[in-house]
Amino acid sequence: MAERPRERVKLHPVVGHQDLLQALAAAYARGSLPSTLLLHGPKGVGKQRVALWLGQLLACEAPSPAGPCALCPSCRMALGVEHPDLHWYFPLARPKGVSGERLVGALEDARAKALAERRSEPIRASYDDELRGLYLGVVQNIRSRAYLRPTMANGQIFIVGDAEMLVSQEASQEAANALLKLLEEPPGASRFILTSSEPGRLLPTIRSRTVSIHLTPVPVADVEAFLVAGVSADPNEAAWAAALSQGAIGRALGFLSDGDAKGPLEALRRKAYVLVDAALSDSPVTGYSVALSYSPAGARKLMDLFAFVEEWLRDLGAVASGAGDAVFNHDARPRLTEIVSRSGITANDLALAISAVEEARELARGNVNPQLVISGLIRSIRSRVVDGPLMEMTP
Ligand SMILES: [Zn+2]
Repeated sequence: MAERPRERVKLHPVVGHQDLLQALAAAYARGSLPSTLLLHGPKGVGKQRVALWLGQLLACEAPSPAGPCALCPSCRMALGVEHPDLHWYFPLARPKGVSGERLVGALEDARAKALAERRSEPIRASYDDELRGLYLGVVQNIRSRAYLRPTMANGQIFIVGDAEMLVSQEASQEAANALLKLLEEPPGASRFILTSSEPGRLLPTIRSRTVSIHLTPVPVADVEAFLVAGVSADPNEAAWAAALSQGAIGRALGFLSDGDAKGPLEALRRKAYVLVDAALSDSPVTGYSVALSYSPAGARKLMDLFAFVEEWLRDLGAVASGAGDAVFNHDARPRLTEIVSRSGITANDLALAISAVEEARELARGNVNPQLVISGLIRSIRSRVVDGPLMEMTP
């Protein structure tokens, strides 16, 4: 990826989703836009960017049924992520050594720092390997802000990214309930825009208080064009990354290399391949050495890896059932074909193996030692694919 300029950057235009933006702008012009929305869809598809666009629309001084004007002071501030009434929350690493009331302030400081980073570099891959959460302190922050008189807009506007993170962390129930109260009775003309790539993990009570809007994948050609124009990616690499993106810009960005270093998602995709390859190999020793190459702590960080493991298994299933055109990992098709013909695995075996990934995910959520989770996953994929399901039932 080429060196990006360091001066203040504005948010890039929304890529794709134009029909949705039109529908939202028209609903707002009619006065029928709900005050609490949940934008859901695949990771990296642009949910937070669309949420920020909505925030700009709500803050705009001269909105039209076509959208925000993009010219008024409010629009300009929203595009620079510095509008005083537009508040963007997202999961953060828990500040160390702080608790109680001091945590609320520390979280706000951490958010200010993260916002400054996003302002100077608004285009980011939807991947990072730090553990993050939306802690109770964040909700307390939102709550105290929601009751303040807005500076410029009609009401305070809150964007809560990855809102499902409210339920996966400690004190989550309390945090979720506090948010629930706000969603139920938004103070004044406040508006809430939640985003989630895992809406099934949101509390049902939160889901039932929000109007859901699904964001579909962006056409691959649009992703490719954005990579070239927006981040000056090499055209060949852009085409390759876009084809792997599944229509998610944030995902495509994660595949792009940075100098000599592979993109973080590409590194992870390869790691997942090594895991699947070990599970399908004849030697159990390979599986153990793969498991031992993982850190003994931080199982919750394995979720992105599991998604890639699942994709490799799905691809093998596609090849095994003669639907090789449907593989996600288009650049590995010859290798996938070779694995299927060598091992004689069937689409059925692979469907069973995919259920092993879901089990591993559950263990990882429970924060079991990653080496145990990985070696267990490799063993259960092997038992379902190589040995076949019958072997598993034999004592
Ligand atoms: Zn405007």
